[in-house]
Amino acid sequence: MIFSFFIMEQLRKENILSNPFRADLHCHTTCSDGSLDSEDLIRLAKEKNLQGLSITDHDCVDAYEKAVPYARQQGLSLGTGVEFSCMEEGVSTHILGYDFDLKHEKILSLCFWHRERRKKRNLKILEKLSSFGIRIEPQELELKNGSHRPIGRPHIAIILLKKGIVRSLQEAFQRFLGEGKSCFDPGESITVEETLAVIHEAGGKGFLAHPHLFQKPRFVLKLLEKPFDGVECYYSKCLPNQEKKWLKLAEKRGLLISGGSDFHGEFKPDIPLGCSWVGKKEFDRIFEKNKCC
Ligand code: AMP
Ligand code: ZN
Ligand code: FE
Ligand code: FE
Repeated sequence: MIFSFFIMEQLRKENILSNPFRADLHCHTTCSDGSLDSEDLIRLAKEKNLQGLSITDHDCVDAYEKAVPYARQQGLSLGTGVEFSCMEEGVSTHILGYDFDLKHEKILSLCFWHRERRKKRNLKILEKLSSFGIRIEPQELELKNGSHRPIGRPHIAIILLKKGIVRSLQEAFQRFLGEGKSCFDPGESITVEETLAVIHEAGGKGFLAHPHLFQKPRFVLKLLEKPFDGVECYYSKCLPNQEKKWLKLAEKRGLLISGGSDFHGEFKPDIPLGCSWVGKKEFDRIFEKNKCC
């Protein structure tokens, strides 16, 4: 185990040395469920010697307001991004949208719809928690600074942790909030095709996020028959042989390749920014029109 970790670490370092341009295309800020704001994230990216970034908050593009001028100032290449939640055959599916127009009305209204969807869904989760004697007032979930960021299950998990009901965020998902657990509620949903249509209308490209998380390989193959532009082949928790499998599939289907860490800061401390990335060739193929800087 330690030996294989050492080999992987060595390969990673050699790969970094032979790739001067590295872009992490999957990370979250305080505009969704990450712990760093966009400026701190960009500072960290510079510290890690990343040259490119795409911020992919859940159903929200607000981080770009501060990120664009700051990335420009710091000399970091920033491509537009978002991670949309959808539901396909009852399976939660995430789509990474890249290279779309940040101000496109369809993107902004889909983000607004998701925020409202989560609000209603969260109330149902709080009701279910109260049937277990766990009381969280809806106001406790609201943000003090008037921000419009989407409030998701991780925020409920943090409150459960602060109240001492669980000992870790993982436990909150395992006992109450994870799919199919006692207080889970799916809420309203939107399909993969509807989401891809919005991304395409806004001039962007849709990528299937973290395909290795699906339990059934055939489901992934079926999903990729939809009008996806690419697939996330490099991902923090993906082993090299899994990555190879996705790269091969992308090539076979003529799909673009993306990659990123899925960094959430202290909320997922085992995932460092920049641990997965793409090189200049992939970055330029994805961001043809809407590279902010
Ligand atoms: P929501 O979109 O509000 O349903 O929340 C989903 C988010 O919760 C995901 O994108 C993850 O960031 C996080 N999440 C889901 N399952 C887990 C888990 N088992 N442990 C920690 N975080 C999780
Ligand atoms: Zn997240
Ligand atoms: Fe995701
Ligand atoms: Fe993510």
